[in-house]
Amino acid sequence: MARYTGAVCKMCRREGKKLFLKGDRCYTNKCALERRAYFPGQHGPTSRVKLSGYGLQLRAKQQARRFYGINEKQFEKYFVMAAKKTGITGDNLLRICESRLDNVVFSMGFASSRAEARQLVTHGHFLVNGKKVDIPSYLCKAGDVVAIKKASLESEKFKAIFEAKHSIPAWVEVNAETAEGKIIDLPERDQISVPVEEQLIVEYYSK
Ligand code: SF4
Repeated sequence: MARYTGAVCKMCRREGKKLFLKGDRCYTNKCALERRAYFPGQHGPTSRVKLSGYGLQLRAKQQARRFYGINEKQFEKYFVMAAKKTGITGDNLLRICESRLDNVVFSMGFASSRAEARQLVTHGHFLVNGKKVDIPSYLCKAGDVVAIKKASLESEKFKAIFEAKHSIPAWVEVNAETAEGKIIDLPERDQISVPVEEQLIVEYYSK
């Protein structure tokens, strides 16, 4: 399935919840969901229908996919990987999503949104353990060091990102002076902010 390239705020309005896809704007009163908390579309406000069990499971899966910006096929692949690991499948699934390089770059405050992180990674601005990696879906591990390339640091883009000073989760540590961050450990469920019930996603794929 191709990546969605339409207005991202519509995805939040479609789901009826904030998916935090636009960086800093999501935390201001410019957020589209704050101003128009109803379904997108030309017919204006419509009441939300009560979802069936399957509908809830489907929506949870879509919300998680959209939150991380992962396409359908890859998300399903992550579920298969998660189910093969020991532990709780839902937790494993979210931890795999969190370990993607684009999410790690965003979590370290090197991008203002996951979408921007994905673009910066694709443009080759990052090193993982000293080697250039330009694949947003690259799965990082505990102990990995992610650094912005020295040549990229002079760009206006990174200067603006550093000025914004994002909050950094406890599972990574960042050295702003060297513009590098280390994954202390992959996050536990209570350190993951995705606004979905992962058990519904497990039920969706377990049918
Ligand atoms: Fe969603 Fe952010 Fe747009 Fe608000 S501003 S609707 S949270 S993407």
